[in-house]
Amino acid sequence: MPETIFSKIVRKEIPAKIVFEDEWSLAFHDLNAKAPVHVLIIPKRQIDSLEHASEEDASLLGHLQIVIQQVARQLGIHESGYRVIMNCGRDGGQSVGHIHYHLLGGRAMDWPPG
Ligand code: AMP
Repeated sequence: MPETIFSKIVRKEIPAKIVFEDEWSLAFHDLNAKAPVHVLIIPKRQIDSLEHASEEDASLLGHLQIVIQQVARQLGIHESGYRVIMNCGRDGGQSVGHIHYHLLGGRAMDWPPG
């Protein structure tokens, strides 16, 4: 599938407010934050969506969740709590075709989501 703006962020071709990076992943502030803390956690290697992931991606996706935990601690929302979201496909509200987790915190979240 064609690459997205997230691949350009991974290659540092366009700016982003990066909060965490390692060999496999990158975390950066969402441009259009929906909460006081809104960070996107992505794998550097593009997987288009959860629907495109396979068993070989399981450890990478698990790693991303541990990165989320680290970023939540780094940004000081680990005690108050946070929400982790992955949108998938049209009805899921996915707008960028490079798999990513949203980490939201800094306020109480509503349930159910809209
Ligand atoms: P989704 O709608 O789940 O695919 O989430 C995509 C997210 O990427 C949205 O929350 C956008 O605000 C965010 N986004 C799009 N472009 C950028 C960018 N250049 N830098 C940071 N966040 C972005």
